Order: sequence, then C-alpha cells, then structure tokens
Amino acid sequence: MDFQAYWLLVLPFFFGLGWLAARIDIRHLLSESRALPASYFKGLNFLLNEQPDKAIESFIEVARAEQQTIELQFALGGLFRRRGEVDRATRMHQNLAERTDLAPDQRTDALYELAQDYLKAGLLDRAEALFNDLRPSGHAVSALHYLLDIYVTEKDWNKAIEMAESLETAAGEDRRREVANFHCELAAQEYSHSRTEPAHNHIRAALQAHRKCVRANVLQGTWAQREERHAEAIAHWKEIEAQAPEYLFLIAAPLMESMRQLQQNAEGLTLLQGWLQRYPAMDLLAVAYQMTLEQEGPESALRLVREELHRNPSLGALDKYLEAQLATVSAEQRTDVQLARDLVHAQTTRLYLFQCGSCGFKARTFHWHCPACGGWDTYPPYRNADGELTFNASHRSGM
Ligand SMILES: [Zn+2]
Repeated sequence: MDFQAYWLLVLPFFFGLGWLAARIDIRHLLSESRALPASYFKGLNFLLNEQPDKAIESFIEVARAEQQTIELQFALGGLFRRRGEVDRATRMHQNLAERTDLAPDQRTDALYELAQDYLKAGLLDRAEALFNDLRPSGHAVSALHYLLDIYVTEKDWNKAIEMAESLETAAGEDRRREVANFHCELAAQEYSHSRTEPAHNHIRAALQAHRKCVRANVLQGTWAQREERHAEAIAHWKEIEAQAPEYLFLIAAPLMESMRQLQQNAEGLTLLQGWLQRYPAMDLLAVAYQMTLEQEGPESALRLVREELHRNPSLGALDKYLEAQLATVSAEQRTDVQLARDLVHAQTTRLYLFQCGSCGFKARTFHWHCPACGGWDTYPPYRNADGELTFNASHRSGM
C-alpha cells in the first residue's frame, strides 16, 4: 500500500482543530466564571469544607450583590427557617415579595414562604391572613393544610370544619373523622355552657359526618346520665357495639352504674360478660371483674378471670387473676400471692399503655386527639401490650 503524502498535511490540520476547540472551551469557561462573583466560589469552597455558616455568609454576599439571583434567595430563606433563624428568613422573603421585577408565580412563592416564616415565629394571625390570601393560588391545598393546623391550635372548631371540608373538595382527602371530632369538640363546649340544644345539633352533625363516631355516642350517654336519664344513656352507649365494639371499654363502668340505678344489675353483668367474651380487652376485664366481685362475690369473680386468662392468656389477665386470688387465698398463701401480684402489677402498669398509631406517643389514658402529633382518632382502642404480652395457644401446647 502506497503511503499518501498528503496525510502529512491533513494530520496537523486535525490536531490544530482539536487545539482550537480546547481553547474555545477554556475561554468560554473563563468568561462564565468571571460573570460569577468570587463570593460564590468562596461559598462553594466553604460548603465543600463543611463550614456551612461561612458558606451562608458568602452566599448572602452573592445574593446582595447580584439582585437577579432569585432562586438563591429562596434557597437561603428556606435554609434560614429550617435552621430556626426565622427573622432572617422573614426579611429575605419580605424583600423578595416586595420586588417589582418578580413574575406573579414567584411573588406567590415568596408569600407562601413568608407565611411559613410567620407560622414558625408563632405569629398565627399574620400566617393565617397570608395563607387565606393564597387559597386561590397554586399553593391552595398546602395553604388549607396549614390553615387547618392553625385553627385546631386556636381551637376554632367552626373554621377547622370549614378547612377540612374544603380539603375534601379541593384534594379529595377523607376528613370525615376529623370533621366529626370537631363537631364533638363544639358539642362539648356548648354543653359546658349549658347550651344543650346547640350541643345536640353538633352531635347530630358529627354522626352525619361520620356514622361510626363513637365519641358522639359516648358524649350523649354521659350527658343523659348526668341528667339522670339512665335508660337513654344506656341506649346511646349500647349503640357503640354496632359502631365499633372495641371502644366499649370506654363506657363499660358508667353503663354499669346507670344499670345499677335502674336496678338492672344482673342484666348489666350478663351484658358485660358477653362483651368480654366477644371483644376481650384488659379494661373490659377490669370492669367485669369488679362488677362480678360486687354482685356475686370473690369466688365467682375469680372464676370469671380464670376463664378469661385461659381463653386469652396475657400479662394483664394474669394480673387480674392474681388480684382475684388474693381475695380468696388462705392467710399463709397470701404473702406469696401478694408478692407475685405486686411484681406482675408493676409490669402491667408500666407496659399497658395506649399508643398513638401515628407518632407512637404513649399515654396512660385514651385520647381522641393525640397530644404529641395532633392526630385525630389515631389511638387504637386497646392498650399496646394487650397483643404483645399474650401467649399464643400453640406455644402453650408445646410446653
Ligand atoms: Zn400521635
């Protein structure tokens, strides 16, 4: 194959092209970097060296010097709020919102950020006003969520209902349980001011929003009992079995009291023991034990608890069983049983708690509204250890 001499000319030409391309690229980069202020690179350097505070100072310089760096100002504002520097975040977002060169969407974004700054600073009135202004914007759903939280914090239940219902329409969210709870809050408020008619109207509204709102029936029964209308109280409470029977433990003791007032002790005990068989729970067992003890004596109460312990073996049932034994044992056995009972009871008290299904917060008493995360109906209607501290039947048969 003959070597073509012209290749000697073509090769340097291509090398030349490559060299030129590289030069152009470098020049382009240099011109771009000259457009960015030195503080920007200083900031990046600080970030890379994990010195966020110095990085922020450098970026602030950039943001101050380069008014067009809107995105950077948003980023800094958000960062300040997350770091708890609410004053700085507020100033940054206020400046942004007041700028005349912002696009309408950017202005809305600035107001949305500002509203969150106010909220974080605890300026609920200002936050509320801004979020209300934002309801027709692209931030409508988020604004409604924030407003709902604000009204719940302020216990402004009427407005909370309005927000929850708006969220159902705007975002298709299921807020029936919350709406029912807000009506219950209003009902309790009205009743405490002796305004029974509006109180009952809110109970009706609660049940209309959520047919299975147990809380509404608990309240109705409690009021009827307070007004000595015991038959009515019993009727309201009995309805809970059809709504959600796992909540029956909430009214077991007062229901027995109303039945006692009507001299229906025996019927009451039969009813309670039936519930215990169908919906076993620690709190229900405690009431059934107490009622049986009062009406039929310690032997019968011990039998009831023993049967329950065998049916649903749990630490809670064992605790009650030992308590029942104490009432029946001989004097010489008493010390031993007392010791065992004290040990088991200390554990039961420590472990048998209600636990929020949303945030895990544990409480000794049942809550409709979680004191930690603010969730509604987030507490399951049983103590967390009811399931955990239960031996299963197959485990026992192998012993
Ligand atoms: Zn919670």
